[in-house]
Amino acid sequence: MIPILKINQDIHTIKLFEKNNISVHLLRLDEIHPVVSGNKLFKLYYFLKDVLHSPYKTIITFGGAYSNHLAATAFACNQLNIKSIGFVRGEQPKTLSPTLEFCIQNNMQLEFIDRVAYKTIHEKKFSGSLFQKFGNHILIPEGGFSLPGMEGAKLIWKYIEPNNKYTHICCAIGTATTFAGLINGNTNDTIITGFPVLKGLHDIEERLIHLKILPEKKYKVIHDYHFGGYAKRNDELIHFINSFYSQNHIPLDFVYTGKMMYGVYDLINKNYFPGNSNILCIHTGGLQGNNSLPDGTLKFTNT
Ligand SMILES: *Cc1c(COP(=O)(O)O)cnc(C)c1O
Repeated sequence: MIPILKINQDIHTIKLFEKNNISVHLLRLDEIHPVVSGNKLFKLYYFLKDVLHSPYKTIITFGGAYSNHLAATAFACNQLNIKSIGFVRGEQPKTLSPTLEFCIQNNMQLEFIDRVAYKTIHEKKFSGSLFQKFGNHILIPEGGFSLPGMEGAKLIWKYIEPNNKYTHICCAIGTATTFAGLINGNTNDTIITGFPVLKGLHDIEERLIHLKILPEKKYKVIHDYHFGGYAKRNDELIHFINSFYSQNHIPLDFVYTGKMMYGVYDLINKNYFPGNSNILCIHTGGLQGNNSLPDGTLKFTNT
């Protein structure tokens, strides 16, 4: 899919289990790369293609101190000899997060910006100032939330076996860009089922309109599995991720995929899915985010 990057192209779908006429599969996008696994490289794809064809090889983007998006952007740009500048929300901390360390190792230039100013990054005045300060560049909105990001996420369909008639495809929702790409690429009556990991993310419809998703497209949003909000967790979630690992030897991340998988298992127990459902869950990666957990929280390490 992303031949411009040196990543593992050999992605598998595995069957997790079949019980009471419901089967659950997992698309292992996390296998793309141990650190920048999952959906982020898809969302970057068209931006990277663009910048490679442009005379000014610079990308500017945004994210928090634990952002999978920043890590993926730094990695991809470094591989392609593109200059990357990452605006990090919040004051510069005394010790950098593992994510930001990774970004620096991958030659990303970090610019810290306080939370008040960060709220203005979408304004013309701010983007104008970037041209003055850094010259010509390609700007990627936070999390890749944009049409090219959605088109890139749509490429995930290339890894979804067409002969396997999934009734549901499940994914975690952050900015909803990946969700939108899956919805857009859906040509049959599969229900794309999204699990927001933020509390009170009630503008998904607007987000889908912004990403030019036709209103008749089939999807479902399940708001019950954010565990208190973004990057919030409890013992039950951690226990689930650990036992999922014991059973399947597959690591999940606690910010996104752990919550989505927990939700799918819980909904199965509550008989949410009709009989004969054939469910595909997307492992969107994000495993580097687990580095922010205290040692020993999870029974596995990333690398
Ligand atoms: C960023 C991320 C998501 C959310 O993707 P969006 O396109 O922003 O909705 C889901 N899973 C993982 C692991 C991520 O890192």
